Amino acid sequence: MKDLPTLHAADESSTAGVHARAWLQDDVEEGIRRGAAYAGDWRYNRLLAALLPEHRQRWLAQAEWVYLRPGQMLHEASAFIQWVYFPITALASLSVPDRAGACAEVATVGREGVVGLPLIDGNYTRSRAVVHMPGKALRLRASAVAEEFARHATVRRLLLAYSQALVAEIMQTALCSRHHGLEQQLARLILLRMDRQQSDELTMTQESMAGMLGVRRESVTLAAARLQQGGYIRYARGHITVLNRSGLETRTCDCYHTIHREFERLLRPRPVY
Ligand SMILES: [Zn+2]
Repeated sequence: MKDLPTLHAADESSTAGVHARAWLQDDVEEGIRRGAAYAGDWRYNRLLAALLPEHRQRWLAQAEWVYLRPGQMLHEASAFIQWVYFPITALASLSVPDRAGACAEVATVGREGVVGLPLIDGNYTRSRAVVHMPGKALRLRASAVAEEFARHATVRRLLLAYSQALVAEIMQTALCSRHHGLEQQLARLILLRMDRQQSDELTMTQESMAGMLGVRRESVTLAAARLQQGGYIRYARGHITVLNRSGLETRTCDCYHTIHREFERLLRPRPVY
C-alpha cells in the first residue's frame, strides 16, 4: 500500500481558513493525537474504497490528511469550493441558509461520502458544509476531482451514484419533517449519524438538535427523554450514547430504513468490465 500522506490541520482553504486560523495549535495537535487512535486509513471512506485501484493510487498521491474541528466551515453556500473532503472519522452537516439568517440541515456526510463535489459548471453549491463531529479526513483539490470526473466513466458513475443517494436522503428528510413524529425523526437523525462515524457516542446539544430538526428546544427535550426512558439512549450534558441500537431502529420511521437501503443499493460494489 502506498505511504499515507502526513496529517495536518486544514488551514489553507479560502472558506475554512477563516475558522481554522482561530484554532489554538495545541487544540489541533490534541485532535491529531485523538484521531491517530483510530485506524486512520482511506479504506474507512466508502467512496475511496470503491474507486478502481489505479484511480485511487492517483488520488492518494495528491491527497493530504487533515484534522477537522467541530464548527469548522468546509464550504460556504454559493462560495468558491477549493477542497473536496473524504471523511474518515469526521462527520459534516449540510445545511441551506436563507438571507434572513435562518438555516436548515438537509443531510449529513461521514465516511460513506464526500463533501464539496463541484462536478458540473462552477465550483459552488447552494449548501453550506460545517463539521459536526471532529476527526480525520482526506482532502483533494476540487479541480483535481473535477478533472477525474470529466475523464473517467467509472469515477463519474461512482460520484453520480453518491449524488443520487444524497438527493434521496434530502427528499426523504423533507417528507419526514412534515409527516412523522419528532421522536421518530430524532431516532432517524441519531441512527444516520451512528452509521456515518466510527463511534457509538454522539455530541449534540439540545439547541443543535432543535436546529437540525427545525423545532423548539423544549420539544427535543421531551423526545430525547422518551427515547431515554425506553432505554434506547443515554443523554447527558450534550452527549448521546446509544444503548440499544436494534431497539432504536424500531422507534424510528421507515425514512431511516429507506435512506439506508438507498445508499446500500447505489454504493454497493460492482464488477468492472
Ligand atoms: Zn420519517
